[in-house]
Amino acid sequence: MGNGDDCIFCKIIRGEIPSKKIFEDEQMLAFYDIDPKAPVHFIVIPKRHISNLSETKAGDTEILGSLVFKAQELAAKLGCGENGFRLVINCKSDGGQTVDHLHIHILGGRSLKWPPG
Ligand code: AMP
Ligand code: ZN
Repeated sequence: MGNGDDCIFCKIIRGEIPSKKIFEDEQMLAFYDIDPKAPVHFIVIPKRHISNLSETKAGDTEILGSLVFKAQELAAKLGCGENGFRLVINCKSDGGQTVDHLHIHILGGRSLKWPPG
């Protein structure tokens, strides 16, 4: 849904909104969350605009795997390899999604509670 013209994460990808970038390649971008919920909180997104996880197709499994793999690699680089971390994908309204561009949250640096609220 949508082509990303008005999407804030697409604007970050295009450099129209500043971000604190952690990693970038042709397929994906990782940057720090502007409102961190843990000492380490960053976001990994595909550069191609996909609104949410429900919009992914069978052909998207490779990019999904790449995003998850990069998430753990960067979490380890940022010091969360030993004690661990959490990945979160909020999907649509019940999932608490507020930005309609598929993204993985990576949270670490403290002991996280379970279950989420
Ligand atoms: P979600 O609620 O899962 O859709 O998460 C959206 C996340 O994007 C929130 O944690 C926001 O703090 C974060 N966010 C919104 N705008 C920006 C921005 N300009 N730069 C970095 N993170 C942002
Ligand atoms: Zn987008």
